[in-house]
Amino acid sequence: MKVTDILAQNKEKTLISFEILPPLKGKSIESITKVLDPLMEFKPPFIDVTYHREEFEYKQTPSGYFEKVAVRKRPGTVGICAAIKYRYNIEAVPHFLCGGFSKEETENALIDLGFLGIQNILALRGDARKLEKKFVPEPDGNAYALDLIEQIAQMNKGKYLDHDLINPVKTDFNIGVAGYPEKHFEAANYDEDLLYLKKKIDAGGDYVVTQMFFDNRPYFKFVEDCRKMGINVPIIPGIKPITRMSQLNTIPASFYIDMPDDLVKEVRKCKSDEDVRQVGIEWCIQQSKSLIKFGVPCLHYYTMGDVKTISAICKELV
Ligand code: FAD
Repeated sequence: MKVTDILAQNKEKTLISFEILPPLKGKSIESITKVLDPLMEFKPPFIDVTYHREEFEYKQTPSGYFEKVAVRKRPGTVGICAAIKYRYNIEAVPHFLCGGFSKEETENALIDLGFLGIQNILALRGDARKLEKKFVPEPDGNAYALDLIEQIAQMNKGKYLDHDLINPVKTDFNIGVAGYPEKHFEAANYDEDLLYLKKKIDAGGDYVVTQMFFDNRPYFKFVEDCRKMGINVPIIPGIKPITRMSQLNTIPASFYIDMPDDLVKEVRKCKSDEDVRQVGIEWCIQQSKSLIKFGVPCLHYYTMGDVKTISAICKELV
């Protein structure tokens, strides 16, 4: 079932969904089921699975020199999605990137997803790889999420890259897109970022999932601004609890978001990371309750494999 159909059918309640990461290369699928089994009590109607490109690393050769090699640490997004769909009978949403794919490879990967019965996709550009200064698309790949969305939307109309196909089937993908209540870090300004978001929706985006945030006010403003400019699709807030003191710096550095002053003050008072986790849980519960009151269609938790913390939060909401 499509994510937007699920949301439309559950308008009277706030749903809970999760994002998970595929296991590190070499780990078994049990590392995923260990995270998901306990979360099933919250009846998530869909689970997102992130996509991880290869990263560059310097590795020492036997002769002592260092060589730059590409390593993919978390493959398996599509396999995990298929496993989720058929093990739990709930929708799995693979994250799908422009980065690393030619348009031809994108088309073929979408065909695979269709054959697996995966109907939902979160369409993203992706970031620059480690050791690269900026995002570089493949020479014949999609440069922006907008281009990827256009390609998927064309396939949904039965239009493939190869124009000689006879009666090609129309795919039926529901397309999620990323939104940034505190602006994407590369955007010239907030307003221009919103204009590109509007283009993504006009091109075929069916709903928005936001970057994480710790202060609901920018999210509320973002929703209001989106509505003013005619972005009328569901806007699902992405949320993550803080669990370690070091995250006061690493989260803003990685995700280009601000930590609200009240949260920073509470975390700074903590004596251990366990204390920080408790503050993070309480903050996230209050944040979630306020989002429910606002009328969000779904709360989408970035689990990062920390099922204990996420369960503690969700238990207070159901
Ligand atoms: P875009 O929408 O293409 O925007 C990128 C930048 O370009 C923005 O600054 C935008 O304002 C600007 N822009 C957009 N369109 C145009 C245009 N036509 N012309 C000029 N400028 C334009 N990354 C991963 O690698 N794997 C994941 O699984 C993953 N999951 C994510 C899930 C969510 C909910 C979010 C919010 C992000 C996720 N990311 C993931 C990170 C994401 O790939 C990065 O934030 C990336 O830098 C931007 O992706 P995007 O799809 O928002 O890009």
